[in-house]
Amino acid sequence: AAGLDERTLALAGRREMLGPAYRLFYRTPVHLVRGEKAHLFDADGLEYLDAYNNVVSVGHAHPRVVAAVAEQAAALNTHTRYLHEAILRYSEELLATLPGMDRVMYLCTGSEANDLAIRVARYATGHRGVIVTSEAYHGNTDLVSGMSPALGGGQAVHPEVRVVPAPDPALAAADGFPATPEGTSEWFAGHVRAAVASLDEAGDGVAALLVDAVFSSDGIFPARVLGPAVAAVRAAGGLFVADEVQPGFARTGEEFWGHLRHGLQADVVTTGKPMGNGIPVSAMATRAEVLEPFATTVPYFNTFGGNPVSIAAAQAVLDVIRDEGLQAHALTLGTSFRAELSRVAAGHDEVGEVRGVGLYTGVEIVGESGEPDAARALDVVEGLRDRRVLTSVCGPHNNVLKVRPPLPFTAADIAWFCEALDETLARP
Ligand code: PMP
Repeated sequence: AAGLDERTLALAGRREMLGPAYRLFYRTPVHLVRGEKAHLFDADGLEYLDAYNNVVSVGHAHPRVVAAVAEQAAALNTHTRYLHEAILRYSEELLATLPGMDRVMYLCTGSEANDLAIRVARYATGHRGVIVTSEAYHGNTDLVSGMSPALGGGQAVHPEVRVVPAPDPALAAADGFPATPEGTSEWFAGHVRAAVASLDEAGDGVAALLVDAVFSSDGIFPARVLGPAVAAVRAAGGLFVADEVQPGFARTGEEFWGHLRHGLQADVVTTGKPMGNGIPVSAMATRAEVLEPFATTVPYFNTFGGNPVSIAAAQAVLDVIRDEGLQAHALTLGTSFRAELSRVAAGHDEVGEVRGVGLYTGVEIVGESGEPDAARALDVVEGLRDRRVLTSVCGPHNNVLKVRPPLPFTAADIAWFCEALDETLARP
């Protein structure tokens, strides 16, 4: 190994020891060693702009989260089978943000939260069927992998799952529906009603409509488009399960939870990524009567879920969002970010629609006649990486830049991003 730099060693080590299912980002992988707010530093001391990482939502290595974790780790870390005050204080504050909900269970990942949500929904409804959108990702357990069409053809969707298109206004308009939230809602509800009928016909019935309310893997779509679909599912005895792993914890700015932007309350809410700023902690919240049929039949224990250290991280995240005003910040900063991005877009035919809410933005990359262009989008992601700006892509055609930075993003970060994008588009 003499003479090899650290990055090369890390690459060789990955090939020799890690499972091949892991995918590295970028043709020239990034080797990070330190972070602060939305900035990252690599092994050579070079500074990067993180416009992608919604896990460290209150900022990389936030001192209050670090201190809370260190302090609790130095005192005690057990599990939920002993008494602890911190989990009760946190639960009270979390449930206060979730209208109509009075029960919460803690887990470690978004996958586990969705897995439990589906089990709970099946017991509560007596039905098995689940409806998801066509590019959705809901996690990596056997149960929810089969509800994640984003995983592609190698992972079959379970037989009791129906896949509907996401509420994409452009698709609704192409089918002759008005290009309004009402038109998109009706179009989407038509697909959901057909899925419910198909599940009824198969004898499964509908247990849940499971959706991510910003449609983060589907391509990022607008608010106020879920009402009629949720009503149809409820009328058939099913529940609305809001997967808040992506839009939750203030990212959309408009609301603390993404599903509230649709003017709806969910029956079950699941969270993950941003909840502990990188410490593994997730939650499934619901109402007592929804939880009861499962909880009184099946014992449930999660060794790490909700332990005092993970709750300390989660509490610090909630405190920071409140004390630093990050929800309002996400709203105002996100709006000016999209205004700046639209200015850049105006100078480049490769940029289609710029859309999103709060600090969740999609930037469409298109070909010469306006068609989705995945190859070009990938070149843009790589070009941005070469300018030390980190992003990725989403959507059915993999052509929508997914821009969702840590919430303490600044006006200077916007300027860095827009300049890098402008340059990349000019000279990919
Ligand atoms: N739901 C959504 C919407 C997600 O984006 C993800 C992760 N990308 C998950 C669930 C799964 O979360 P985890 O990786 O923590 O299991």
